[in-house]
This record gives sequence, structure tokens and C-alpha cells, in this order.
Amino acid sequence: MNALDQLIELLARMPGLGKKSAGRMSYWLLQADDDFNQALGQAISQIKDKIHPCVECGNYSDSERCEICANPTRDQVQLCVVEQPQDVQTIEATGEFRGIYHVLHGVLAPLDGIGPEELGLQNLLRRSKEHQVKEIIIATNPTLEGDSTAMYIQRLFKDQDVKISRLATGLPVGGDMEYADTLSIARSFRARLALED
Ligand SMILES: [Zn+2]
Repeated sequence: MNALDQLIELLARMPGLGKKSAGRMSYWLLQADDDFNQALGQAISQIKDKIHPCVECGNYSDSERCEICANPTRDQVQLCVVEQPQDVQTIEATGEFRGIYHVLHGVLAPLDGIGPEELGLQNLLRRSKEHQVKEIIIATNPTLEGDSTAMYIQRLFKDQDVKISRLATGLPVGGDMEYADTLSIARSFRARLALED
């Protein structure tokens, strides 16, 4: 396998890239200027050293605490729970939310051995007490696992004086928030549903 085939093969393993797009990118890189290729190579090789989960919320950051946690103007009593760090970006793009986040880095999946402990859900409870959170907005994906995670969180906060709501309308059922458009998520935020016990 020559270097070109190897690059295509590596790129094609990435999400959303088939062999065809991987090929198009590789041929493009062969003609790009050296500075670009060097910067790209460096950015890729450094990313895991430079970016880590925020110690507070789990969002990706290049400092110990992410920009959102470090921002004193964010509303500390509103907390939005998401599955993945990229969901934070998706919600930030709507401009609808000025509170803080909690990134689970997954969902409850008992069959894969991911229970409340693995997901650090006690941590969520501890944080919300610390910040005296008044409202928790659960923005897990509308999938089976996302739903049961939302239900678990709702039960976890049963005895707390916290309003629990869930993004609902506008998100495609069984879909992934990553693929929903900004407008749908913004609308979904405004029309979030309060979860009742
Ligand atoms: Zn953070």
C-alpha cells in the first residue's frame, strides 16, 4: 500500500467520510501547500494532548475549566445535561441557553455495562447542589437510551427542589441532536416539557 492509499484508508475510517470523500481529500492534500499540510498534521497530532474534559462539566477545553464554567455571567442555577461535548456546541449555536452544562460522555446502557456509576450521575447531583441549581434541562437524544437516562435523572432529583424539563418537540425521534438543525433545537428549548413525577 503506498502513502496515498494509506492516507485514504485512514481518512475513510472517520465518521461521515466514505472512501470517495477520503479520496477527494487525499488528492486535494497532495496539491495543497506545505504550510497547510504541516499545520493540519500538527493540529491532529496535538489534539489529544491539548484538549481535555473540563473538571467541572466535562465539556472539552484546553484549560482546566472550560470557557462556559469560567464565565461568571452564565446563569449558575440553570443546568443543561447533554450526552456529548459536541452537543454543547450545538446548543450554544442556538443562543437560547445562558446557563451551565453537564456532559455525561454517554448514556445509560446496562447491556454494555454502563450504569449510573459509570456515567457519574452522583456527580451531577453533587454539582447541582453546589450551584443551587433550580432547573435541569435534559437534552439527551430522543433514543431509547437517551429516554431512560432522562428518566433516571428525573428520579434521582425526585426529593430535590429542582424543576426538571426535557427537550422534546422538534427533535427527530430516534435521531441524534448532532444532525438536528439549529432552529429546531432553539424551538425545542423554548418549548421544553416539564417532567412530572
Ligand atoms: Zn466546564
